[in-house]
Amino acid sequence: MLTNRHIVLLGGDARQIEVIDKLNALDARLSLVGFDQLNRNFNGAMKVNMEEIRPREVDSLILPVSGTNKDGFVETTFSNQPIQLTKDWLEETPEYCTIYSGISTPYLDKLSSDTNRAVVKLFERDDVAIFNSIPTVEGTIMMVIQHTDITIHHANVIILGLGRTGMSLVRAFSALGAHVKVGARRPEHLARAFEMGVEAFYIKDLEKQVHDTEICINTIPAMVLTSRVLSNMPASSFIMDVASLPGGTDFLYAKKRGIKAIITPGLPGLVAPKTAGRIIAKVLADLLLEKFAEESEQ
Ligand code: NAP
Repeated sequence: MLTNRHIVLLGGDARQIEVIDKLNALDARLSLVGFDQLNRNFNGAMKVNMEEIRPREVDSLILPVSGTNKDGFVETTFSNQPIQLTKDWLEETPEYCTIYSGISTPYLDKLSSDTNRAVVKLFERDDVAIFNSIPTVEGTIMMVIQHTDITIHHANVIILGLGRTGMSLVRAFSALGAHVKVGARRPEHLARAFEMGVEAFYIKDLEKQVHDTEICINTIPAMVLTSRVLSNMPASSFIMDVASLPGGTDFLYAKKRGIKAIITPGLPGLVAPKTAGRIIAKVLADLLLEKFAEESEQ
């Protein structure tokens, strides 16, 4: 249990509601900053302003998935108040106070090294990325259906990258009857694609592989769908870039060629906020329980 552990949530979106419910069930003492417009109250959790919190009493800090912006402000769906995490504030927390964020940002990295407070990046964990690939795949299928006039079944689909998301996409699109080809840079990924029963090629050969592509899904967070590659792709093809911003597509050139190309960040939160929230909540609860169990043993 997390009894008497003071955990502060700074901002966030609907996914944090699952986190609040989970930590509440574990009896944590919760302070919610940036939730004043949320039309729901939680027993045992206080909606407060940043100024009402005594940093010395904070055991852990939970930020939104996006962390902070370049000035330390966090995104809040349920408040219009600006919420900023500053060095002065963080320095007053106990040294063991850990920050949990979806991703890191340059501001957060600097804050962490300046204050010697650990930042745990949940989305860098394999388990979170693999769990998240489930709603990501469902969102991708939804978008592909909305943006094309052909069935996925029998479509020529290229999937770029065979990481945690790429792997789930390959499995789902193959199961739907698409002709799937995978582009990756590591020989072991090409071997895995072969084992999964799909065609595979080295990403450096991408421009030779796209002449009959109908749907292209990119998971590689680097420029791969260059103007050179796009010039070999049919203008009727559809590109869905799921890689983190700015994606891996030359969107300007795609537009010039009349290729429909979209970038779709945050699919889990968009198509399944409850599931996406539960994924974060479960991992967070496990990490907090483990951290405080270790501390009580010391
Ligand atoms: P991952 O497991 O790290 O997979 C990334 C893949 O890209 C790997 O196969 C990696 O190959 C490859 N790659 C990286 N840089 C490359 C380069 N310069 N050239 C060729 N291949 C390269 O990551 P993931 O969890 O699958 O996530 C993939 C991307 O999708 C990330 O940007 C993530 O933030 C994003 N994402 C977006 C959503 C959404 O809602 N839109 C949801 C989930 C994830 P190596 O193994 O050889 O490095």
